Amino acid sequence: MNTTRRIILSFIALAASSVALLAKPIPGPKGGRIVTTEAPHVELFVAADRTVVVSLYDKDLKSVTVAGQAVTATAEAKTGKVKLSFVAKDGALVSTAALPEGDDYTIVLQVRDTATAKPKNFRVLFHEEICAECKRAEYACTCDDAGGEGGHDH
Ligand SMILES: [Zn+2]
Repeated sequence: MNTTRRIILSFIALAASSVALLAKPIPGPKGGRIVTTEAPHVELFVAADRTVVVSLYDKDLKSVTVAGQAVTATAEAKTGKVKLSFVAKDGALVSTAALPEGDDYTIVLQVRDTATAKPKNFRVLFHEEICAECKRAEYACTCDDAGGEGGHDH
């Protein structure tokens, strides 16, 4: 094996392992999607009535009561963008309106740690069908290859 080939191979191995790290989702305690990679964690959960519930957790996924954080969301539905506002309810933030019809669209969640803080944006592709493997809604799927094109490793 020549040096160039060795370098290319180790580069591929490195790329593959960083993809694996990114692709391993944290299961949201309410059944939703954890959009953050570091605490405080933010979970986006779509309730049965299609309202969006945003919950906060510490690094051990213990619930943190919402205190001063401000959240808005934009559902980029095929029928047009819909902006959702949120009110505090049971320690979480719940959207005042339901998501638009259908699925297969992006929800952009904007989180501010305080009302005046710089917003952080998180994009979630909303698919409501249930994953056959992890039994979670597809947008919150925790299978290793979620969103990837690779085959299953079992
Ligand atoms: Zn799954």
